[in-house]
Amino acid sequence: MKSLFGKTLEELVASASEKGLPAFSGKQIADWLYKKGISDINEITNLSKKAREMLSSEYETGVYPPIDVHISSDGTKKYLYRLNSGNFVESVYIPEIDRATLCISSQAGCRMACRFCMTGLQGFKTNLSSGEILNQIWSLPEKDKLTNAVFMGMGEPMDNIDEVLKSLEILTSEYGIGWSHKRITVSTIGILTGLEKFLKNSQCRLAISLHSPFDEERRKLMPAQKAFPIKEVLKLIENDKYTQRRISFEYIMFAGVNDSQKHAMALVKLLSGHDFRINLIRFHKIPDSPFSPSDESTMENFKNYLNSKGLLTTIRSSRGEDIFAACGMLSLQKL
Ligand code: SF4
Repeated sequence: MKSLFGKTLEELVASASEKGLPAFSGKQIADWLYKKGISDINEITNLSKKAREMLSSEYETGVYPPIDVHISSDGTKKYLYRLNSGNFVESVYIPEIDRATLCISSQAGCRMACRFCMTGLQGFKTNLSSGEILNQIWSLPEKDKLTNAVFMGMGEPMDNIDEVLKSLEILTSEYGIGWSHKRITVSTIGILTGLEKFLKNSQCRLAISLHSPFDEERRKLMPAQKAFPIKEVLKLIENDKYTQRRISFEYIMFAGVNDSQKHAMALVKLLSGHDFRINLIRFHKIPDSPFSPSDESTMENFKNYLNSKGLLTTIRSSRGEDIFAACGMLSLQKL
């Protein structure tokens, strides 16, 4: 069975037409899917019984609940979804005092092989469809509390850019879920073709995983640096004249690797002169990893130095470490 959920308005109109239904049925189906939240085609009561039967012969809604949840002592929840392909993905709900964020996956596994990331170490399984991406939001038990979504879960969004863009269109369109672009951040290591498409077609916020200002060192941490050097990524971003989007840089801090004064100074040189933000992220030790987290005072000094040089820098608080839900820890290790 094919899924209706995750189709754009244009695709729903086309699907309705293929089934011999009038074009306006596509808009009606979008309303029921994305506004009223149906889980069964038979709930579309303004379509005739015959029309519903025709649709049901080929489609299902494609909305399904998580199959498992792990709850951290800090309130973070890690949900597990089973995809149609038989693969699994995780998403992480992070409640805070004034906001609640969902960290979404865009692929099962990842082919980018970043050395500090459990998802990367497990290799690539499959791309998620736009419906499978959106279902993580739509079927979240805490959906009504959500204020933000970040594409920072399993996978590299720009390596699945067409489905990611479709999910962003539905998430932000009037016919769809209707969120503001400002509520959504898409993270990437900088795959240039995907990034170019993203910059042209979405106004959502962007986060670039940097982790080192030095090419060779970054390549050792993130092999994709070889094909997509950070300087090329920066060039592309600097030419982004399509939107006023917020752009931030993610910087995981590894003790004795990328947390020296030399690194801080090189970051200032690389990123100064733009309205960029920097998020310093505490590393979470993963099994068999040669890396260890920088200590608190090193991170604090690093942050203060960057701020003193005019780079707006914060330290992102660490959440869900006890349930393997923190940054770089998603892996389905227990399956
Ligand atoms: S950090 Fe992101 S891009 Fe790198 S391997 Fe992990 S999921 Fe993939």
